[in-house]
Amino acid sequence: MIFEDVLNAEHSSIMPTYGRFDVAVASGKGATATDINGKEYIDFGSGIGVNSLGYADPDWVAAVQNQAATLAHISNLYYNEVQVSFADRLCKLSGMARVFLGNSGAEANECAIKLARKYSHDKYGLGRHKIICLKNSFHGRTLTTLSATGQDSFHQYFFPFTQGFEFAQAGDIGDLKDKMGNDVCAVMLECIQGEGGVVPLSPEYLSAVRALCDAKDVLLIIDEVQTGAGRTGRFFAFQHSDITPDIVTMAKGLGGGLPIGACLCSEKLAGVMSPGTHGSTFGGNMVVCAGANVVLQKLSADGFMDEVAKKGEYIRQRLLSMPNVKEVRGLGMMLGIVTRQGDAKEIAKDCIQNGLLILTAKTLLRLLPPLTISPAEIDKGLSILEIALKGAIKT
Ligand SMILES: *Cc1c(COP(=O)(O)O)cnc(C)c1O
Repeated sequence: MIFEDVLNAEHSSIMPTYGRFDVAVASGKGATATDINGKEYIDFGSGIGVNSLGYADPDWVAAVQNQAATLAHISNLYYNEVQVSFADRLCKLSGMARVFLGNSGAEANECAIKLARKYSHDKYGLGRHKIICLKNSFHGRTLTTLSATGQDSFHQYFFPFTQGFEFAQAGDIGDLKDKMGNDVCAVMLECIQGEGGVVPLSPEYLSAVRALCDAKDVLLIIDEVQTGAGRTGRFFAFQHSDITPDIVTMAKGLGGGLPIGACLCSEKLAGVMSPGTHGSTFGGNMVVCAGANVVLQKLSADGFMDEVAKKGEYIRQRLLSMPNVKEVRGLGMMLGIVTRQGDAKEIAKDCIQNGLLILTAKTLLRLLPPLTISPAEIDKGLSILEIALKGAIKT
């Protein structure tokens, strides 16, 4: 197929829910993607933070291929050694007590919401079901996770939405305190609001939220769907502060390219869910778990996370020295660029034309490179980005 054929087939077969860039990616190796015409692109997006080990990591491919050839799926009606090996490793590495495995970030968050409500219902009875989320947050595309998302633009068309969510100003502990009524069972937040424009919360605010929750037996849910699995240079973004959540969700980078969602909880919540209260046909799929196990092995290898932090810092410093860069936000390899001039989407389009895949978030350019990106790939990508940033300056 040539690109035009792909476009035509798309328009006649796929619901038009995505505003796509004009490129059809066909293959990849490391942090370099190749389109259907053979043109190469440095990848600063990892999909959207998904391909954490880059494309076609040999160990990940071997594990996935081997598992696909052995046994791809078995129902959760049966025990399964591959799933349990991965779950055990994930619990140990994350310091959490139990995990529920689903297939996406939204599903992980749905599980977190159900878990928080059931904990509260079991202990306090009806009426203590409210979850306070933050303004400008993003928690997913199912009806309930849209309801939990603190952006009015997501609360359209699909009425009625799930009840029981309220929104506090991010970073304003007084506002959260005011909203902490006796009907609240949980607070849910992202340590760095990703889709909201790479907006980090301060460690001081996170500590204050934790203290407020502790005082009322309100659960703290941290959505690490985008920030987790080493993205910020630590396993979790909350590890840059001194808090631990009661519930933490993961997805994007955890599977290294295959769909996975994980909802992890502390010991206090280990027995809240009972048989029949939650489930998923595909959740914990063996091929997915075999691949995700390789991701965890690499993340826990000596020096891997330090390397992520170091590369992130190098990129940040290089960006700060570029023309048209007003501010760089984020941690590790999750970075947002505020430009002085030019529209982020247009700059991203310019980058893509010149061989660099880069993301946007609100009015920012956003970088979520593969954690394994090489120094040479970083430099090549940054030089393309620098030219696009210069090109956006009006003379
Ligand atoms: C992407 C994202 C989600 C939704 O994940 P899906 O896999 O698309 O369902 C939820 N929360 C955050 C913070 C995300 O970045």
